[in-house]
Amino acid sequence: MATASFDTARRAASAVSPIEKSPDVQPEGLPGRPVSLVGLTRADLKEKLLAIGVTERESRMRAGQIWHWVNFRGATDFDAMTNVGKGLKADLARAYTLDRPEVVSQQVSRDGTRKWLVRMAPTGKHDHNRGAEIECVYIPGPDRGTLCVSSQVGCTLTCSFCHTGTQRLVRNLSGPEIVSQLVVARDQLGDWPGLIPGKDAASEAGRLVTNIVFMGMGEPLYNLDNVLDALGVMSDAEGLGLSRRRITVSTSGVVPQIGRLGAEGNAMLAISLHAVRDALRDELVPLNRKYPIADLLRACRDYPGLSNARRITFEYVMLKGVNDSDADARELVRLLKGIPAKINLIPFNPWPGSAYECSDWDRIERFSEIVFNAGYASPVRTPRGRDILAACGQLKSETEKLRARARMLMEDGLGAEGFYAAPEAND
Ligand code: SAH
Ligand code: SF4
Repeated sequence: MATASFDTARRAASAVSPIEKSPDVQPEGLPGRPVSLVGLTRADLKEKLLAIGVTERESRMRAGQIWHWVNFRGATDFDAMTNVGKGLKADLARAYTLDRPEVVSQQVSRDGTRKWLVRMAPTGKHDHNRGAEIECVYIPGPDRGTLCVSSQVGCTLTCSFCHTGTQRLVRNLSGPEIVSQLVVARDQLGDWPGLIPGKDAASEAGRLVTNIVFMGMGEPLYNLDNVLDALGVMSDAEGLGLSRRRITVSTSGVVPQIGRLGAEGNAMLAISLHAVRDALRDELVPLNRKYPIADLLRACRDYPGLSNARRITFEYVMLKGVNDSDADARELVRLLKGIPAKINLIPFNPWPGSAYECSDWDRIERFSEIVFNAGYASPVRTPRGRDILAACGQLKSETEKLRARARMLMEDGLGAEGFYAAPEAND
């Protein structure tokens, strides 16, 4: 059971917590800054060519060529575009850049997990004209490499166990900013065709980043237009080339947008369920007060294209004495009956001031056994990147404080606490 002080802190927090801190904000963009062509949709890229005088007739072909260099080859310089004429290359270089967001730091875990602190270009008063920082985590596995990306800086929602929810600065990431997290990862890993001898990054099987999960900062369905644009660019077969069934979007349950994600994004869906009763879910995921469990599960049943090969992932964070009883496990199985589902049990990742503790390991095992006996295989996520604090719900702000300490510990060959739950959302 949770201790009395945990319980009291928890109740006090939930009694006052509103569903949302502030409305979403869009980046304003600073006037006068050259625009980067990285991460743009095909339509936007064509617009940019028309804007520098390329004729409508020529723009389709030119956009295709430039698209190839930017999104397939990972070009960082217009000069590399050997099939683009000298004049156009000069015009492009005058008006635009191929800049990516800046990688402020990289941490590499002993298990191969890498975490990058990425600074976006400044967009205005929301980031004090300095550029917002987000984190991006790469988790290599034996048969896949998963990149965990953010959809917002911070999050307007206020889930009581999530550190991102306590962050003050909140803004939507633009479509190109979302895509550029994949571009940065490919740059850092050398995951572009021809860069690693013996590795054929031109083919899906040869790539290091094979899967994307939207499980970093932010609520993707509160930024759906930009997320949909990003899905289109990341899954383009002539560009970044990740199949949509290897891209998983995780939501806390924005019911009215779930159908649109399926119909227009055709991505895999993950639901942050975390509780099987409304009273508790209202407290853990306050958005539940607006969209309760029954409504959420109805939207899941209606998700387009579901089958045993295309299941919804239900995430369930293990909170000691809160949601981890045998009865909770049995109710979870009952609730999900009839939905093609996978269940990911996530060990809670504590942060300073959090009002919860992670369930004990034998409790997690017992819970997972009940779920397993109901037919759901391997539900507990393996802790990854423990030594570099690559943690769900703990990205960026926590690391910022602990960065120096973590680096010191790493240099000493010691581990800092904290783990990342390697997503098993898609294969
Ligand atoms: N906003 C979206 C996606 C980002 S959060 C969502 O809520 O689904 C990604 C996952 O990390 C969610 O399942 C979230 O509940 C989980 N998470 C947040 N804080 C956590 C913590 N401290 N420990 C473990 N998992 C956490
Ligand atoms: Fe936002 Fe997801 Fe964290 Fe909830 S769990 S506060 S929705 S990032």
